[in-house]
Amino acid sequence: MPLRQQIFEYVRSHGSAARAEITQALDISAGSVTTLTADLIAEGVLQEIEDTRRATSRGRPRVALRIVPQAAYVIGIKLAFNKHSAILADFTGNIVATANVPSDVKRRSTATLFQEIDTLIALVLSDADKPMSEVKAVGLGLPGIIDHDQATVTWSSLLTDGDQDLPTEFKRRYGVPLFIDNDTNMLALAEQWFGEGRDKTDFAVVTIENGVGMGLVSDGQLYRGSNGMGLELGHTKVQMDGALCRCGQRGCLEAYLGAYALTREAITALDIADATALKNDDILETLLNKAKAGDRAALAIFKRAGRYLSVGLANVIQLFDPPLIIVAGDRMQHEYPYAEAIFKDAQDMTLSTRSKPCQIHIRAWDDRVWARGATALALSFLTETMISGHTGATA
Ligand SMILES: [Zn+2]
Repeated sequence: MPLRQQIFEYVRSHGSAARAEITQALDISAGSVTTLTADLIAEGVLQEIEDTRRATSRGRPRVALRIVPQAAYVIGIKLAFNKHSAILADFTGNIVATANVPSDVKRRSTATLFQEIDTLIALVLSDADKPMSEVKAVGLGLPGIIDHDQATVTWSSLLTDGDQDLPTEFKRRYGVPLFIDNDTNMLALAEQWFGEGRDKTDFAVVTIENGVGMGLVSDGQLYRGSNGMGLELGHTKVQMDGALCRCGQRGCLEAYLGAYALTREAITALDIADATALKNDDILETLLNKAKAGDRAALAIFKRAGRYLSVGLANVIQLFDPPLIIVAGDRMQHEYPYAEAIFKDAQDMTLSTRSKPCQIHIRAWDDRVWARGATALALSFLTETMISGHTGATA
């Protein structure tokens, strides 16, 4: 990574930083920091502010650097099963405006998808009171297999057709680049830019929603695999000839752990009358409430799913040895029954030496986190083109 980009990234991840701190943290000469930050200030992406944290010996405030928030704006979009959301963020990643629209169509054509995207963008721009001309890039996350390099949606549970090239049509409509990625990668990016992964070079994210997903940041980079289908934890097999999965195969982890699997069990075990009239979310809510109230059948469903979650987490630890796994998902906003025991079982199933066990944390749910990850995707691109696109000194 070019030195000037390293400086920029350091300031970004720390909110603000004095030149002396940057010199020390990146182990480069004070002269280089002075020159490169002067360039970045001249280009309008960094600015000097009063460093309120420290003062000189004479009591005068010192100077720190921060990113100029208005240097560029981006939009991050998350398309999902029940709701689409969008965030407009400034160049520091701070949220300026948000918008949500319900998504009740199960699968749609690309044309319908673009109508939904148009509505979202119009709403978020109006909430921010900004014209599209101030938006320099858009990030989009959706479930499925996304070929990040080719920028095509190979397959998505939201679309009727495969192999869709969304960025070309987007550029034609809006005149700005669109970056797409798998929704779980978005979440990993959100954690890396704004969350618990901020000061970590390695960590994993495991999501439990309708399906089960995984994202991995390794050596500071998002791991994507060669075809965009790496880390599909939900479709790793945990049982030969086991339960039927949505993907058509049998014995996949998510066929035991995903929301749809729990719903399927709940309908039978809880004797829910007229289940076809109920939404899956409502059935899950009923299941969770019953479990909280101590209903044995409901608790047994969570206990069984929890054993599979332990296996999944143990496999992640054994394969990647991350220092941290963040377990996130819609239902994680509630207290997941047996969470502590599940995490302990996962540790027990690994060859951990126990001197430094992998930390497993539940991500308290914030609905905006996915769309924020999509803003991070757009911001990564902008940082690359605006900051490192120049010929500067390299490390
Ligand atoms: Zn599967």
